[in-house]
Amino acid sequence: MVRAIVCTGACVAASVLLAGAMKTDGLSERARKLHFSCIVVDTHDDTTQRLLDGKFDLGTRTSAGSIDIPRMREGNVGAIFFSIWIPSKVTGPDAVNRAIVQIDAVREQVRKHPNDLVLATTAAEIRDAHKQGKIAALLGVEGGHMINSDLGVLRAYAALGVRYMTLTHSGNDEVSDKTFYDALETSKAPLIASHSSCRAICDAPRNMTDQMIKDLAAKGGVVQINYHVGFLSQEFRDAEKANPELNKTISAEVTKRCADNEGCQLIEGDRITREYVEQGRLPRVEFSKIIEHIDHAVKVAGIDHVGLGSDFDGANMPYGMEDAAKLPKITEALLQKGYAEGDVKKILGENTLRVMTDVQLISRELNGGKQKQESRLQ
Ligand SMILES: [Zn+2]
Repeated sequence: MVRAIVCTGACVAASVLLAGAMKTDGLSERARKLHFSCIVVDTHDDTTQRLLDGKFDLGTRTSAGSIDIPRMREGNVGAIFFSIWIPSKVTGPDAVNRAIVQIDAVREQVRKHPNDLVLATTAAEIRDAHKQGKIAALLGVEGGHMINSDLGVLRAYAALGVRYMTLTHSGNDEVSDKTFYDALETSKAPLIASHSSCRAICDAPRNMTDQMIKDLAAKGGVVQINYHVGFLSQEFRDAEKANPELNKTISAEVTKRCADNEGCQLIEGDRITREYVEQGRLPRVEFSKIIEHIDHAVKVAGIDHVGLGSDFDGANMPYGMEDAAKLPKITEALLQKGYAEGDVKKILGENTLRVMTDVQLISRELNGGKQKQESRLQ
């Protein structure tokens, strides 16, 4: 009798477990289907630096870093903004020259891989690329220090395909939160925060306060959540701050491995940080932290104002989000959290596509208005 009871208990427990597993499997399947039906847009990755040394090719799958065509295919990346970035100590004509070399390097990869990549500058071109089964490659300039204080340079970048410029990068410490508000006030079009997370969860100056997120959203913009552990986790940030020697050691090791090769520095920085986490010298950050930031931003700004700006190949990635192939996990985690499929679709890309369309319409209106004015004058 006792044995029978034990058996019944065990069987019930086993079937509960089985039901649980089936439920998770069902969810995984639904998440996969949903993820691969969406246009996934990533508004920031730093792979461009890797293209500069001439050895790295996007078409070859590698184990280092986060981005190449095979892994983007696995993660169903529909559109990706390749960052044009130069350390902010480089300014003036030198910065412009180096930016042009980087723009060319991205365009060259598109030329080399016509079956996988297509250069895009609008939401419509991204949708077309998706229909053709290709990944849309876009360009974004990371930091206003790259235009040599000349709006003509910015227009030249735009003519080469660049579709956003961030106001600043970590080094431009003369730029404050107020600049964000100045830009918001000045711009007639909605803005994006191309790769920023939530300051309410992790107090990093590159993250957005709740008020900033609300104000950005009120103007129709989108905050693109960044996956960098130092922007996701307060615990990680505190641990780094508490031990400044650790950062110095990491920097020294990076220089030893990479000298002044910036692409190498970004990849090795991530790798060495991981080694320190494995040794227990820095806290481990899970990818679920990304979901926490997305969820917070959605609560603050509404579902129409949150997107993804990974910072792949330019930052330290959390466990579970090592590369673009892992992206379907975001979809699964959001469904698990109870997000509706339509809402997940918005976060994965539709919100960004909407902003791009809005910006283009406003730009057309402004230019059209100017043309009319000019013809009146003639
Ligand atoms: Zn970057």
